[in-house]
Amino acid sequence: MIVILAFLTTISFKAEDILIGLFYGINIQSVVFSAVEGEYILSGNGRQIAAIRKGTMFHIEWTSSGLAVRDTLQSYGIYNNLEFKGISGVNVFQVKPVFPSLPPKESDDVLSISLFNDALRLINQLSLEKYVPGTVEAEGGTSSPLEYYKAQAVIARTFAIKNFHRHSHEGFNLCDGVHCQTFNGKSRMNAQIYAATQSTKDEILVDRNGEPVITAYHANCGGITSRASVEWNRELPYLVPVKDPFCNNSSHRNWSKNLSIMEWNAYLENKGYFAGSGNLYSQTESGRQKYLDRENKKLLLTEMRGNLKLMSSFFYVESGSDSVTIHGHGYGHGLGLCQDGAMEMAGMGYTYVDILMFYFRNLLLAKYSIK
Ligand SMILES: [Zn+2]
Ligand SMILES: [Zn+2]
Repeated sequence: MIVILAFLTTISFKAEDILIGLFYGINIQSVVFSAVEGEYILSGNGRQIAAIRKGTMFHIEWTSSGLAVRDTLQSYGIYNNLEFKGISGVNVFQVKPVFPSLPPKESDDVLSISLFNDALRLINQLSLEKYVPGTVEAEGGTSSPLEYYKAQAVIARTFAIKNFHRHSHEGFNLCDGVHCQTFNGKSRMNAQIYAATQSTKDEILVDRNGEPVITAYHANCGGITSRASVEWNRELPYLVPVKDPFCNNSSHRNWSKNLSIMEWNAYLENKGYFAGSGNLYSQTESGRQKYLDRENKKLLLTEMRGNLKLMSSFFYVESGSDSVTIHGHGYGHGLGLCQDGAMEMAGMGYTYVDILMFYFRNLLLAKYSIK
């Protein structure tokens, strides 16, 4: 495959570090902080209150008068804000919510804790290039080929830059949940993820105007990717249908779901249809449709997907005597990169540039520079 790779040098972006809201949306009352690698300095309300050596644990708890801080030996008082700052070459901390009890997250560099309503707000400050591997591991799996990880690293970095101000009103850039990109902390499972991040350093996907784009991806496209206007109601020239021969052998490729005639009719009646008829629609040539379009009513297939908990909105319905079968393809919204296909392409020897240019059309790969 011939790919024209254009590196623009004019994209500038004003931050080297990124602020991630950890355990976002969860009402955290208390946590334990520990230094995993390197030495940390703890400051309270801007003043240094302790030096923390590797392995030392600090307990932080919300109280009505502020954040109560203690280690195993003593109490350090009450503060409005705390900062754990790594001062060694490599600094890794772990933070574990105690109430409610949640699995810990390990990450690099700085952790700030402040009060937010009746809970703790935890913000991790780290370089963008240290953030990318964690989100690649969370979103892209732990045992894939290197070129696939490179494609995911470009996608994760582009997302971060495009959405850099998504949570600015809350004092950070991105949250760690599915609302932004899942970040379970530092990547630990596969060293290839770091290699992939490093070798694509600063690279993002942009449109012809140099604007970072929406780097959508999904588990499996079912044989053809979707169009932005089908899933989201607006056209984007780079999210258009691509016939994908690479994801054929995946378990997500084909699926089916049976509903009794009673369940199916009840569903249709609830949506305003006259129930009890035969095939409700069949596939068009392209294989993807936007609506169930009958009786002068249009029902979005994405809505049906949500209501009936289907793996994708790429399906057709076949009726039998006492049940209907929904035959579907793929898993996810079907826009942009198909992860199963991308993994297969990487395994066959395609490069990450081949992969990105196959699934996203009319785009350029650019390097952003930090101002
Ligand atoms: Zn978010
Ligand atoms: Zn696919």
